[in-house]
Amino acid sequence: MHKPIILIYGPVGSGKGTQAELLVQKLGVVHLSLGDILRAKVAQNTPDAQVIKDYMSKGELVPFHIVDDIVRQRMEEPDVANGVVFDGYPRALEQAMTLVKILQDQGKKVTHVIAIKLGTDEIIERLSNRRICPNCREIYNVVSEPPKVEGICDKCGTALIKRADDQEVNAIHERMQVYQEETLPVRDYFAKQGLVHEFDGNQGINELHEQIYKIFE
Ligand code: AMP
Repeated sequence: MHKPIILIYGPVGSGKGTQAELLVQKLGVVHLSLGDILRAKVAQNTPDAQVIKDYMSKGELVPFHIVDDIVRQRMEEPDVANGVVFDGYPRALEQAMTLVKILQDQGKKVTHVIAIKLGTDEIIERLSNRRICPNCREIYNVVSEPPKVEGICDKCGTALIKRADDQEVNAIHERMQVYQEETLPVRDYFAKQGLVHEFDGNQGINELHEQIYKIFE
C-alpha cells in the first residue's frame, strides 16, 4: 500500500490549510504548506527572502526553482515516510510534473487530490475576515471561527494579524486569477487519472472535514 500523498486544492480562503491540519491529526501525515514555508523564509530573512517577498506581495507565484528545491529537500527528510498532505502545491502544471518525478524517484505517487470549491463573493468575504497567528500559524475567521479573546491566539496568546497579501485588493485578484489560469489545469491533470474528489467549501469546517475524511475510511 502506498502511503497517502494528498494534494489539497481550493481558491484562496477556501479553508484548505485548516482542512489539511485536520487530516494531519487523523492520518498522521505531515502538512507541507508551501505558503507557510515561504512566509517563514521571508521572516527568517534567508538569502532568497526578498525575491520571495516581492512575488508573494503581488499575489504571483514564486519562481519555480525556489519551490522545487524546497519540496525536493523536504521530501528527503525521514518524517515524510508516513505520508504528506501538500497544501498550495503544485500550483502549476510544470510544478506538478516536477512533483511526479520527485515522487517517482522515491517509489511514491499522488494518491488523493481534494478539490474544495468556493464562489468569488464568498472568497472575498472570507479573506477580509481571516486572521492568522504569526507565531503558531493558527487561522481564525473573525465572524465564523473567532478566537476566545478578540485579537489574541487561543493556542499561544500572540496578537493575531491579517496576512499582508490578504490586505491588498490587487493581490487578492491576482491570486484568484493565478488559481484559474495556472492551478486549475493541475487539478484537471489529476482528474484524468481519477484521483480528484470535489467538495463544496461553503459549509462549516467540521462538516467539510467529515465529508473529506470519508475518502480515507
Ligand atoms: P498560500 O498561503 O497558499 O495562499 O500562498 C501564498 C503565496 O505564496 C502565493 O500567493 C504565492 O505567492 C506563494 N506560493 C505558495 N505556494 C506556491 C507554489 N506552489 N508556487 C509558487 N508560489 C507559491
